[in-house]
Amino acid sequence: MPSEPPLTDAAWRRTFRRRLRNWYDRAARDLPWRRTNNAYHIWVSEIMLQQTQVATVVPYFERFLKAFPSVAQLANAGEQTVLRHWEGLGYYRRARQMHAAAKRIVAEHRGKIPREADLLRDLPGIGPYTAGAILSIAFDAREPILEANTIRLVARLLAITEDVGSTKVQNLMWSFSDELLPRKEVGLFNQALMELGSLICTPKSPSCDACPVADLCLANAKQLQHTIPALKQKISFEKVNEAAVVIRHRGQILIRQCGSKERWEGLWDFPRVPVTSVGKRPIDNELVRGVFELTGLTVRVGPRLMTIKHGVTRFRITLHCFAAELVSPRSDKVAQTETRWVKPGELVQFPLSSSARKLAERLKSKETILSSRRKQAV
Ligand code: SF4
Repeated sequence: MPSEPPLTDAAWRRTFRRRLRNWYDRAARDLPWRRTNNAYHIWVSEIMLQQTQVATVVPYFERFLKAFPSVAQLANAGEQTVLRHWEGLGYYRRARQMHAAAKRIVAEHRGKIPREADLLRDLPGIGPYTAGAILSIAFDAREPILEANTIRLVARLLAITEDVGSTKVQNLMWSFSDELLPRKEVGLFNQALMELGSLICTPKSPSCDACPVADLCLANAKQLQHTIPALKQKISFEKVNEAAVVIRHRGQILIRQCGSKERWEGLWDFPRVPVTSVGKRPIDNELVRGVFELTGLTVRVGPRLMTIKHGVTRFRITLHCFAAELVSPRSDKVAQTETRWVKPGELVQFPLSSSARKLAERLKSKETILSSRRKQAV
């Protein structure tokens, strides 16, 4: 077992900074948001990286900045356009909050991202972590950051066995991270910390043998790295069945916008309802009733189109997708949220839930096959 490192005094901190910096110079990944100190770009990357893997974020980040090259252009865009560019990244609240924050930056700060922590934190979706990242990386302000990777890293460096979410431990970690900051190149240091957490001090199997600060780490000395941070209670997943219908009428398809209390607020979806009678014909009755409640329309359920399995938060959803015909286009019942009849080719313009996009893609490929068959027949 390695001997215990010295306590985290000034000499410890100097050695830690030097080793981390040398390692980062060699090992840092070349990521698009690391080639800039533009505060807007840093902000977009930090919001996208919350809950999302780096590899997924890269193409979204590039497309988003191409569509909205400045805060003002983001603020002036419609929410539907912003959501369309976020489609597939999930956690759409992040996009809506960024859009709202961009509007406030234009209205209250003349389009410039504030350099003051309290003004930044006052904006929608910007908490202490995001503010610290923007301020340190874009403006080289002496601001610490604590996010999933650095929380795990710090907990192991200090061999914290208590719950890292408790106020006591959080306060300890913030003050430790604050003391650890160098005087200069703070943004680079913060990025190096996150990179070490992300590449070496990983959640399940930290690569302590390759770690540049292994002999400074208390968890490594005590061989506690596999039990720190303490595991959170396991999420218990819930299986649910839902059904969606593609209602066609005069060459158009019905879609509806998800309301404020729904999973995908602001996005569009095919009418979908929870069902219990999976695999049996009574699913039709549940579907017909549910679609009427949602849209005010009476439909006749047709053949099954596809089944999609997907996960949203703790739910593991099996989505049964059916074709349907409109029985009566008129109804006295008002739809719960906005509905629209669109041509299949127009679906590309709407921000859809991921499962709705899969269904839309399936419809598109079916139509392409049918139209090429028609052409061959002529
Ligand atoms: S020695 Fe292991 S546990 Fe400690 S910081 Fe490095 S990778 Fe993490």
